[in-house]
This record gives sequence, C-alpha cells and structure tokens, in this order.
Amino acid sequence: MTPRVVRREARAKINVFLRVLGAREDGYHELESLVVPISLSDVVTVEPAEALRVEVEGAAELAGEGPGGLNLALVAALALADACPDAAGALIRIQKRIPVAGGLGGGSADAAATLHALNELWGCDVDPATLAGMGEHIGSDVPAMLVGEPVLMTGRGERLAPVACAVLHWALVDLGFGVRSPDAYRWWDENGARTGPDPDALLAAAAGGDPAALGPLLFNDLEAPVVARHPAIGEATARLLAAGALGAVMSGSGSSVVGLARDEDHARALAAAVEGTPVVGPTAGGG
Ligand code: ATP
Repeated sequence: MTPRVVRREARAKINVFLRVLGAREDGYHELESLVVPISLSDVVTVEPAEALRVEVEGAAELAGEGPGGLNLALVAALALADACPDAAGALIRIQKRIPVAGGLGGGSADAAATLHALNELWGCDVDPATLAGMGEHIGSDVPAMLVGEPVLMTGRGERLAPVACAVLHWALVDLGFGVRSPDAYRWWDENGARTGPDPDALLAAAAGGDPAALGPLLFNDLEAPVVARHPAIGEATARLLAAGALGAVMSGSGSSVVGLARDEDHARALAAAVEGTPVVGPTAGGG
C-alpha cells in the first residue's frame, strides 16, 4: 500500500574544491567540483492534500512569496506533476535547518528530496535519469543532490561522476548572511579571478581519507572574489586555521566556511573554538 506520509532527509552539501574554468556563452560558468553530502539536513515530508502547497518551518525568509520567488520544492513538485499521470495535490513541509543562500545547496537539497518523496507518494515510478533531467532545470546542484553520494561535478553542474571520498569531519561556520550565486560568479568575472590547480592530488587525498594531506589542498576559486566583498568569510577561515583546522575553505558561492578536522573530537573542538557546528561528510544521501 502507498504510504500516506513520506519523509526524506534533504542533506546539505559542501564543495571540497570548486574550480571555475571560465564563463560560457550561455551565461553559466564551466566548473569542476567535488560535491559531498554532509550530516546537516532539512527534513522534507509530503502528504496528500487538495492542492500543491509548501510550508516552511525555521526560515522566516522562505515563508510566503519571498524575493527569491517560488520555493524550489514547489518548482520540483510542478516538474514531477507534469511527468506523472497520477500526480495529485500534496502538502510539502520543510523543516529548514540548512542556512539559506549559504553555499550549502539547501534549496537544491529540498528540491531533490521533494522529487524523491513525491515520486514515491504519487507512485510515479519516474526513473533516476528522468529525475536528473528535471533536476537540471530546477537548479545546478539538484542532479548532484538527487544522487546523494560524493560526485565530481563538471559542465555547469549537470555532468556527474561518482567518486570515492572517505568520511571526513568538519567544523562548519554559518556566517548568518547569504551570497547569491550569480553575484559570486559575476565577481569572479569582474576580478579576472584565477582557476585553481588540477585536482588529482586532492581527489587522491579525499579518496584515501588522509585529512592531513587533504587540508592544504582545499580550494574554491570563488573564495577570493567573494571575500573581497565579504571580509567576514576570510576572517572565519583564518579563525578556523588559527584554531588548528588542517585546512579551511568557503563552500560553493558562500557564505559558509568549513574547516577540516583530524577526527570527530577535533571537529567538536574546532567548532567550539569558532562558534561553529561539527558535521561529518560524506554521509549516505537521503534519496
Ligand atoms: P548553492 O550552493 O546551490 O548555490 P545556496 O546554498 O547558496 O545554493 P540556497 O539556500 O539553495 O542557496 O538558496 C538560494 C536561494 O533560493 C535563496 O535565496 C532562496 O530565495 C531561494 N530558495 C527557494 N527555495 C528554497 C529552499 N527550499 N531553501 C532555500 N532557499 C530556497
């Protein structure tokens, strides 16, 4: 029997590295990134209802029609409904814990969790490749979040290859403000910012689970142009390193910063020193 309430964890992601290769004709940027799901998550539940509706708990800025427009979970629901003859109304509830516009892919995570949850609730049986195609139109990170495992992302985010990444411990600093992704890429263009190194050594260290080797290799090409406008991000990475992090890097287009720890206890100690949160990742996805 079809369950009447379906619940999914919508895991945040971090970018262990993010390399911007250049601007494209279509306005997007060509990039390369190791994207891993972490233990911080929103919770998405869906249940039958008269109409399609989203309720958000825990993020005032997402309640109602914010300046950001439609909730990505609703965009996802509409996309799936189009492809599913059995689609009906649904109440989509999101318990928001992932900072909004924090570079942690929260909106994309909610969209991916909603696609999985409604696919089950409505019995659509839409296959993973078709879901990924829908995800691509909803947001650059949605296909990666649908996979829910570490991926090497290329293109503008739509090309994904599964990649080995050991479980690592991090201290995450939420700076309490958001950075719009289009702004971060525009600042990279304006600053003639750099393209980071070939990631082979970093990928080997991540796969081998060697945080001491990985720490100094973390990088994000968006970091310098974003820090130039938001010095608080640079101060947070400096605080993490001063507290003993093996490396520290901004995630995605910011503002969140993660510091790499030796192990779980070290992550707790780092988080306490910088008023952050210990997280672990990658974790198994909520998909
Ligand atoms: P990314 O790292 O994928 O670029 P992000 O983590 O920086 O994304 P999100 O939290 O995913 O940013 O959201 C970016 C914008 O999308 C927000 O400013 C918000 O207005 C809009 N948005 C729509 N739906 C959601 C949602 N469910 N959760 C968060 N933001 C949402």
